[in-house]
Amino acid sequence: MTTTNSDSAPGGDFIRQIIGDDLRTGRHGGAVTRFPPEPNGYLHIGHAKSICLNFGVAAEFSGRCHLRFDDTNPTKEEQEYIEAIMADVRWLGFDWGAHLYFASDYFETLYEWAVHLIEAGHAYVDDLTAEEIRDHRGTLTAPGTDSPYRERDVAENLDLFGRMRTGEFADGARVLRARIDMAAANINLRDPVLYRILHSPHPRTGDDWCIYPTYDFAHGQSDAIEHVTHSLCTLEFEDHRPLYDWLLDHLPVPSRPRQYEFARLNLSYTVLSKRLLMKLVDEGHVRGWDDPRMPTLSGLRRRGFPPEAIRDFAGRIGMAKRDSLVDMALLEHCVRLQLNREAPRRMAVLRPLKVVIENYPEGQSEMLDAINNPEDAGAGSREVPFGRDLYIERDDFMEEPVRKFHRLAPGKEVRLRYAYFITCQSVEKDQTGAPTVIRCTYDPATRGGDAPDGRKVKGTLHWVSAAHAASAEVRLYGHLFTRPDPGADGDLLADLDPNSLETLTECRLEPSLADLAPGQPVQFERLGYFRLDPDTTTAHQVLNRTVPLRDSWARTQARAKA
Ligand code: ATP
Ligand code: MG
Repeated sequence: MTTTNSDSAPGGDFIRQIIGDDLRTGRHGGAVTRFPPEPNGYLHIGHAKSICLNFGVAAEFSGRCHLRFDDTNPTKEEQEYIEAIMADVRWLGFDWGAHLYFASDYFETLYEWAVHLIEAGHAYVDDLTAEEIRDHRGTLTAPGTDSPYRERDVAENLDLFGRMRTGEFADGARVLRARIDMAAANINLRDPVLYRILHSPHPRTGDDWCIYPTYDFAHGQSDAIEHVTHSLCTLEFEDHRPLYDWLLDHLPVPSRPRQYEFARLNLSYTVLSKRLLMKLVDEGHVRGWDDPRMPTLSGLRRRGFPPEAIRDFAGRIGMAKRDSLVDMALLEHCVRLQLNREAPRRMAVLRPLKVVIENYPEGQSEMLDAINNPEDAGAGSREVPFGRDLYIERDDFMEEPVRKFHRLAPGKEVRLRYAYFITCQSVEKDQTGAPTVIRCTYDPATRGGDAPDGRKVKGTLHWVSAAHAASAEVRLYGHLFTRPDPGADGDLLADLDPNSLETLTECRLEPSLADLAPGQPVQFERLGYFRLDPDTTTAHQVLNRTVPLRDSWARTQARAKA
């Protein structure tokens, strides 16, 4: 797996170099870019790469970035997606200002330009069916064959195209095609379809149109109308660039944008395709587009990924001209770096095991000082209650400890964080042999520090006071798929990990967490970073684990350097 196969040099990646050169040589006064989502689903982390690139270069090269909805296919597009996309771009930290556009705003102009092509003999109405057009297209090695309608005269084409617009013909009965070259080596130039008939209302233009431009006929022309200078898109459009240029060459466009391609982001253990993500939602494999296991921006947000971390990630993966698979561990690493700075530390026990401190007076409690964030001296400290009955993590105790287990075991002494040294005296168990209560003694002389006699303990455990703890549900997430390249064997669903969500309902939190604010990240000591889930109600707190503490990315990097 590669992470930084950026085609970059001191002046930045290859795109920034091109733009820098264009500004230096005076070709453009500033960079105008656009992020052009099709509103047919929610944005994912791959889109974030494109958003960070487009808005990023606009900011760096004294330009502007447009948000343009590529809304040319009314059968798949919805207002819900338009609103979600705008919210996601804003959340990522970008602002299009006054520059919100819709390809549908240009339908009238695009229609006029189609007429212009017909009049110049560069477009014709074709009566072949979609299937026949495919059959006529030829292959990579064999040229295509001309449609029998290719030689229609201008007047007939104008008449038929006008009647396509007024709704005289059924869906699929006719299309408008560019008249380029059926023998072109590039299949995209073999008389591509420019307009199709779709009797389908549009979220923005309603019933005004029953013919809609294709992506190829809308995209470059929209760029030109908006005076976009650099139209940055993913590699799959590389083969469309000759058509992009051909159309601009043959139309009375007000500006001359250029298209550049970069590699799309692929991320291990997930899929970045709206179509596949929609399938997961529609078939109920996840709880929705914003399921915290989804690579959507709404899912990552709900899980607790900060936008700063996603922008940091986008910067680190760089811009390459070759497709690659980026390790999910790098994204999680960026999340940890950010949360480590901003998240206050708290104590919580996810799988509680009761501990009774036998020599601590019954009914008594005290407040102990706990540091809020060792990374941020200004964050201060707080008080946590301590008492006779506590909870510790179930797997912090072993009745028969294995080698190197430095936590609690019969006869062993450990430190309770911010509190005392305790020693396990006995264990109570249920019929299955599982421990139910650990009976311990504490050393009052170790309060909040070390033992006066200098004896050491190897383990430090987190804990909460049973009498004071708040209860919560905590959701732990694993990868959605069991393999880094889900679907590589042809069956995506077979690679779903049935254990990607683990729900713990008996968690106990230190009392200060009762008023945790929505959106506030916290670190539970030794467990990871967490955030409230919107399923939280006044009676029932639900938290998501954003990421555990252990950083597999940092560890592999360290090993590689060693
Ligand atoms: P999907 O395959 O998920 O449907 P798309 O390319 O069809 O993605 P669009 O809404 O058309 O989705 O994409 C908007 C912009 O985001 C395009 O410029 C596209 O190139 C870019 N983009 C989409 N997916 C990725 C990705 N994985 N990495 C980088 N950029 C992407
Ligand atoms: Mg698309």
